Amino acid sequence: MAQPFLERNLRIAPIDVFIDPPQPRARAIITHGHADHARSGHGAVLATPDTIAIMKTRYGEDCAGRFQPLPFGEKLDIDGVTISLHPAGHILGSAQVLMEHQGQRIVVTGDYKRLPDRTAQSFELVECDLLVTEATFGLPVFQHPAPQAEIARLLRSVAAFPERAHVIGCYALGKAQRVISLLREAGYTAPIYLHGAMIRLCELYVERGIPLGDLRHSLDIPKSELAGQIVIAPPSAIKDRWSRRLPDPVLAVASGWMSVKQRARQSGVELPLVISDHADWNELRETIGETKASTVWVTHGREDALVYWSQQQGLAAEPLRIEAYEDGPEEVE
Ligand SMILES: [Zn+2]
Ligand SMILES: [Zn+2]
Repeated sequence: MAQPFLERNLRIAPIDVFIDPPQPRARAIITHGHADHARSGHGAVLATPDTIAIMKTRYGEDCAGRFQPLPFGEKLDIDGVTISLHPAGHILGSAQVLMEHQGQRIVVTGDYKRLPDRTAQSFELVECDLLVTEATFGLPVFQHPAPQAEIARLLRSVAAFPERAHVIGCYALGKAQRVISLLREAGYTAPIYLHGAMIRLCELYVERGIPLGDLRHSLDIPKSELAGQIVIAPPSAIKDRWSRRLPDPVLAVASGWMSVKQRARQSGVELPLVISDHADWNELRETIGETKASTVWVTHGREDALVYWSQQQGLAAEPLRIEAYEDGPEEVE
């Protein structure tokens, strides 16, 4: 492949635009609203309308100098580079970025998953010459179970312990709404109670057309009434004083990381739910193959195994080490 027009720090060289830059930049394309991708303080931001709404909700209306919405599938020409955004299936509005320039096609996946999810636009496969893929779960041990099976385990536990509350630690953007939606899909129609940190983003999802059913603020509810109920809270809240307001809570966490049994045990989680918003090892490999990319750059996670696997397939592959992409403690996507 000819010299790529994307640099390894995800700067689109011919037009001086950065993708998900960790530092404030004059012009940025943002793949999705998670804090390790969407920062405040850029001059101009190009993103999907949902991502722009999420950024404004989290960081305030003025979190960038200017916003330019680009709906999925629409092409935008910037000085000879054609940009389009394609669903990544990770959270509401999450996008892969396709760049075309002088016959070369480059895709940056951002975070993605391919399992159906009613709270995110479905992943779309985009063929390209160079694929920049995430690798959060880029090891063969990561093979996520069906989320419906995890939700069924949760509902069995709720039925078995009618005197206890079930509190589920969920990242506030994406995971919380997906878990609620999976519960509704499984036929759970009772009210679901929210920690205060969940409310704004759940409201935003509903405003943007994602039905979540009967949601209530847990603060307003007497302790005794929460027996037998499901409460959604940030992972950091489930073990602090906040959870003492709940009757004998069963502590659950919904995260792809819950497949690491030791991690679940160490964090005192009684009911680990393996529900991931990232591609697992099989999805990562399938996707690399299906894009027909001849060159693969691997970033944002466990790069080495996926680089090695890609090289075995005859592809040019290398890791990108973008330091600021490390997940913060709350990023248990
Ligand atoms: Zn993410
Ligand atoms: Zn991420």
